[in-house]
Amino acid sequence: RNYSVEELKVLDQKHFLHPTSPVKTENGPAFIFTEGKGVYLYDITGKKVIDGMSSLWNVNIGHGRTELGEVAKEQMDKLAFSSCFATFSNEPAILLAKKLAELAPGDLNTTFFTSGGSESNDSAYKLARHYWILKGETSRKKIISRSRSYHGVAIGATSATGLKGFRDFTNSNAPDFLFVDHFSIQALRDLIETEGPETIAAFITEPVQGAGGVHVAPDNYFKEIREICNEYGILMITDEVITGFGRTGKFFAMEHFNVVPDMMCFAKGVTSGYAQLGGVMISEKIHQEFSELSEGTILHGYTYSGHPMACAVGLKNIEIIEKDNLVANAEIRGQELLAGLKVLQAKYPFIVDARGLGLMAGIEISYEGKLLAPQIVTEAAKLGLICRSVVLDAQDIVVFSPPLSISQKELRDLLDILEKAIQEVENQVLA
Ligand code: PLP
Repeated sequence: RNYSVEELKVLDQKHFLHPTSPVKTENGPAFIFTEGKGVYLYDITGKKVIDGMSSLWNVNIGHGRTELGEVAKEQMDKLAFSSCFATFSNEPAILLAKKLAELAPGDLNTTFFTSGGSESNDSAYKLARHYWILKGETSRKKIISRSRSYHGVAIGATSATGLKGFRDFTNSNAPDFLFVDHFSIQALRDLIETEGPETIAAFITEPVQGAGGVHVAPDNYFKEIREICNEYGILMITDEVITGFGRTGKFFAMEHFNVVPDMMCFAKGVTSGYAQLGGVMISEKIHQEFSELSEGTILHGYTYSGHPMACAVGLKNIEIIEKDNLVANAEIRGQELLAGLKVLQAKYPFIVDARGLGLMAGIEISYEGKLLAPQIVTEAAKLGLICRSVVLDAQDIVVFSPPLSISQKELRDLLDILEKAIQEVENQVLA
């Protein structure tokens, strides 16, 4: 039977607990999406909106690329699933791991696969700690991350997330996770000295903080972090879950800063959301130490680590990113997006900052203690643009992350709709 829109909304409210959302809504979901094409999403009522967030920062190649469905079907018809535990493997997983080794910076040459970003981060913490166990430095177990960071919702990833609201959702987080101030190098050094370097396993950072409000690090920040990690023998982990696969105008964002981490987490853009996949890449050195020092088994692995269909989709997705020059497009369109946001900043005094890197951008708002970002996001959605507000940590920011395939005209439309939404909110506030 066909359900009416109203029926679906009622069923949604009754049966579907949404991720990261208010539990109660007055009228059910604002959108029930049914189709996507390029930068556009269409909902069940026929409304067309620009997906200015690539959904969850992940649909990098844009919606509706049927090649991915074809590859998925082909792989599923042939071999939908088989195990990668122990000595079992499959061709798409091997070839994707090889491709990632070619693309990743430095000697990040080996991949442990997961199904998403949170699992990737939890895996990185456990692999880092296991590395220190193998090296005989068993006291190295603390993980340092940054305030305003977001690393996901598994218990380890939650415990490493600097945005306090996510940690406070549960009343018991994992031990041995520590935080340093946003961009303070000195605070990191002080924390390591206070705790004792021999107790620290790893430092983890997003190259550009995403969920925390698109915070781009100052020049040299990551170089200095890398030096401190080297000095104290601490592993450096980068969380490229949002920034990987072209988002910032480089294949991986750490290329902007010429820094090679010891481990790198990825997810989202590896398949542009067409399948659930993530992973951790580890350096040649760590991989070698695992091989040489371990006499046992890596007792860590998910049922879906190296899922053949997801890996086949990942390979095709990367092929499209390369063939369509989407990384270069992200850089060019990203400059235009930032320039457009700066024009808005100059026009509207309550926009106090416009910032970004590639197609990851945000405007920060400050208006007499009132939150305007959520209102702007609501008005933009009515006018045909999906963007997102960040209000955690006493912030008031609107963020954008459109598909890397966005055209110049589509980007102008995005900015036009955004300005109309800002004007609407300005009128409401000043009224
Ligand atoms: N790390 C970062 C930087 C993220 O932005 C996210 C999700 O938004 C995650 C990790 C968690 O990924 P997932 O939601 O796939 O578990």
